[in-house]
Amino acid sequence: MEKNENGNDSRYYYLLEQLLLIMTKVKGFRLRELYDVLGELCRMFRISKGTVQFFQGLNHEMEDRGETFVCYDSGEGGEPVITVRIVTKVNAVVTGSVTMPDGAEPLSPEEYARVDLIIKTVLSFVSRVRLQSVVEMLSFHDEKGFPNTRCLMQYLQKTNEDKALGGKAALHFNLRHFSLVNQEFGEQAGDIAMRSFYEELKELTGREGAVCRLGGDNFVAVCGQERLAEVLDFLKGTPVHYDTVTGRRVKVSASTGVYLIPADFIMQNPGEIMDKIIAASRAARSGVKERVVYYDDALQARRERFMRIQQRFPEALRNEEYHVYYQPKIDLQTGTLAGAEALCRWVRGEEIIAPNDFIPTLEMSTEICKLDFYMLDHVCRDIRRWLDEGRDVVRISVNLSRRHIMDFDLLQNIIEIIDKHAVPHQYIEIELTETTTDVEFRALKRLVTGLQAAGIFASVDDFGVGYSSLNLIREIPWNVLKIDRSFLPDKQDEPDSSRSVMFRYVTAMAKELGLACIAEGVETQSQVELLQESNCVLAQGYFFDRPLQTAEFEERLSGRCYQIV
Ligand code: C2E
Ligand code: CA
Ligand code: CA
Repeated sequence: MEKNENGNDSRYYYLLEQLLLIMTKVKGFRLRELYDVLGELCRMFRISKGTVQFFQGLNHEMEDRGETFVCYDSGEGGEPVITVRIVTKVNAVVTGSVTMPDGAEPLSPEEYARVDLIIKTVLSFVSRVRLQSVVEMLSFHDEKGFPNTRCLMQYLQKTNEDKALGGKAALHFNLRHFSLVNQEFGEQAGDIAMRSFYEELKELTGREGAVCRLGGDNFVAVCGQERLAEVLDFLKGTPVHYDTVTGRRVKVSASTGVYLIPADFIMQNPGEIMDKIIAASRAARSGVKERVVYYDDALQARRERFMRIQQRFPEALRNEEYHVYYQPKIDLQTGTLAGAEALCRWVRGEEIIAPNDFIPTLEMSTEICKLDFYMLDHVCRDIRRWLDEGRDVVRISVNLSRRHIMDFDLLQNIIEIIDKHAVPHQYIEIELTETTTDVEFRALKRLVTGLQAAGIFASVDDFGVGYSSLNLIREIPWNVLKIDRSFLPDKQDEPDSSRSVMFRYVTAMAKELGLACIAEGVETQSQVELLQESNCVLAQGYFFDRPLQTAEFEERLSGRCYQIV
């Protein structure tokens, strides 16, 4: 026994040393080695089973929600003879216990001290390693449990090292009006909706891909280019659960910037990808119709031009460089002026800049709202003057960008401007384009209902080109449907071309819904005839007049009749 003790002694110190060596190895750590050493130590001390439990917090321990590691199990059973419990600084708990089989020789005091030391060594090791992975888990996920920026960087770096970034598509996207989902259905429902959206998208991007949340409602996704079409289709708008019990859904859509990573791409730093997708995504977000923008060099050039327009805007507004042009609307039954649309022109010295050259830029931010209110203000000023001069005033329509739609004070602001000039409300019409999301739809409905109550007209602009749905028309109390000029047949179209058929169909539908309709962009005599056959009474277009300067338009107010057909 004595000799044995000595032999055991040196073996014990050898194994303890091995144990410490294995545990302090940072790289190349092998669990197998650790288990081998622990197994031998257990046998040396007649231990039948060694167990370690890790609890992330004291509450986890109370609820018995821990992770159990069995380091050694001879299958002989028995009673636990030593149990050690460590509570770490961050309140994680690690416990370890060893069991001896019935009938085994009990541990001597010295053996007891040694086993106790081994358990404590193992526990401190486990708590350190596990805590590290908990910390890692936490640091790669945000407070809502979504993979975060750090996770994205790790993914990019790793995929780059594997030379697998080339040929993938990187996307940055922003969920449209997601805060309103929270407002409308509650934050908990918002969380569920975002989670379902994420899970479904994660599925679509596949195992080689990634989806991470940068913060708020901004995400980055990476996927193989063969999956891109499906992913973009999903991002365009998908109804997702916000209530797991009832299965109710809300449509969530995103504005997306895409960068197609070239096949031979090797990343030097993640900024090379991030800058591109963020720029493209910003462009997608501010575009009114485009929801997906691909990054290319032209995008960069456009951005620079946009910056210049944006920079000059405040001064141009102060200097009143934006002029109101009026395009007459004609009543085909009487040949008289029935109204006009106010259209903006930027007059810089000799140069007259068309709205398509600056409005999309202003729509990238909420600057457009300032311009729209400025236009409304100038229109009201003109109407006031015409009324004071005793002219026959017609209703003037003003365009309102979709950018306004989420502004809760919008109706109030509109009414304040009109009332400031003491203009009777019936002289004002607001043109609004269609919307896509459910939330925008509700906001639009609220606005139009409010306008209606205030006696201000509301019309659907560009009807037919966007995301028209019959719901939009039926559920909102519009006064006028403005049929986009793409519904009018071209000169070369046959008289019964599909466009003519569509046009007749749309006007018939408007009539059925009790809405007035006006055709935009009427340029030819045969188009006027089509309007008349379809009982579309109102027309606007170059055939009658282009958008006119105020003085010229005032002549039209004086009652000249238009030559119809
Ligand atoms: P919109 O609201 O659809 O305005 C009608 C556009 O069609 C005007 O272009 C008008 O000049 C043009 N148009 C009228 N008749 C004809 C025709 O017979 N043939 C053709 N080919 N075109 C015709 P404009 O003035 O260049 O305005 C372009 C767009 O800019 C407008 O489209 C509107 O979306 C926007 N816009 C103009 N002024 C404002 C504004 O004050 N605020 C906002 N938010 N948008 C504005
Ligand atoms: Ca318009
Ligand atoms: Ca239009």
